[in-house]
Amino acid sequence: MTARILNGREVSRVTIGGLAQQVDSLPFVPRLVFVRAGDDPASASYVRSKSRLAVKAGIRAETVMLESHVTQRELLDTIYRLNMDPDIDGILVQLPLYRHLHAEEVLEAIDPSKDVDGFHPENVGRLWSGEAGLVPATPMGLIRILDHFEIPIASRHVVIVGRSNLVGKPAAALFLGRHATVTVAHSKSRNLPGLTRQADILVAAVGKAGIITKEWVNEGATILDVGQSMVGKHLLGDVDPTVAEVASAMTPTPGGTGPMTVAMVIHNTVEAARLRRVGVG
Ligand code: NAP
Repeated sequence: MTARILNGREVSRVTIGGLAQQVDSLPFVPRLVFVRAGDDPASASYVRSKSRLAVKAGIRAETVMLESHVTQRELLDTIYRLNMDPDIDGILVQLPLYRHLHAEEVLEAIDPSKDVDGFHPENVGRLWSGEAGLVPATPMGLIRILDHFEIPIASRHVVIVGRSNLVGKPAAALFLGRHATVTVAHSKSRNLPGLTRQADILVAAVGKAGIITKEWVNEGATILDVGQSMVGKHLLGDVDPTVAEVASAMTPTPGGTGPMTVAMVIHNTVEAARLRRVGVG
C-alpha cells in the first residue's frame, strides 16, 4: 500500500477561494491586526504568510510591531484599543512574546469576538460545550482536510498524540463534536505504540521528528502530521516517511497541516467579521 497524499496546499487554495467569494459579498472589508511583541524570526515569517493569504481573501491585514522595551501595561492598552475599534474584526497576538511579558494575561485581554486564534477561555469553553465560537486554527484545519478528501470521522477512533492547548486538546474537542471516539496520548502515556496502532485516524502533534514509525500505525489508517521540527535546513514532521507503506492516507510535511493553519486563521477572521457585524456565522 502507498498512502494517498492529503495535500494541504490544495485544500488551502480551495478554502481561500471560497472565503474570497464570501468577503466579496460583504458590505465592508474585514480587518485583521497582528500584534507583534517579540523578536522570534519564525514569527515574522508566519505573520508574512498569514498577511499574504489574508490579502488573497480580500481581507485588510495590518501589523502592530511593539519595541522590545514595551511594558505589559502598554501591550494590554494596545489590545484594549483594538478591542474598542469597531472596524477591526480580528486580533492575533503572535507568540512567543518578549520574555518579560505574560502571554496568558494578554490572550485573555482580547475581546473573545475578535479572538481569531480561539485561545480566549470563553472560546475554549464554547468549543468544549459545543457552542458557536472561534476555534483554534490548526485543529480546525485537520477537520477541513478530512472533509475535503471525504474521509469519514463519525464513529472512528481518533488517537491524538500531544495534549497542548494549541493543538491536542482543541483537536480532541472538535473530533468529539464530530462523533469520533477520541484518545489523547502524551509524554506520560504508557505503551504509546499500542495506543497509536488502534487509530483509524492518527494525529501526531508532538514536535519530535519521525517519532511515529510504521510499526506504530494500523494498516489503512489516516495520518495527520502536525509536528514541525527544523532538522538542519529541513522541516520534518513527527511521522516517518515509511508510514506511507501502511497508511491509507497521510499529510505531507511541508505542505500538509501547516498551510491549513494559515488558511483557518483567515477563515476565523471572516467568521468573526460576519458574526460581529452582520450577526450570522
Ligand atoms: P507542545 O506544547 O510542546 O506539546 C507537545 C505535546 O507532545 C505535549 O502534550 C507532550 O506531552 C507531547 N509529547 C512530547 N514528547 C512526547 C513523547 N515522547 N511521546 C508522547 N507525547 C509526547 O507543542 P504544540 O504547540 O502542541 O506543537 C506540537 C508540534 O506541532 C510542534 O512541532 C509544533 O511546531 C507543531 N505545530 C504545527 C502546526 C501546524 O500548523 N502544522 C501548528 C502548531 C504547532 P506532555 O503534555 O506530557 O508534555
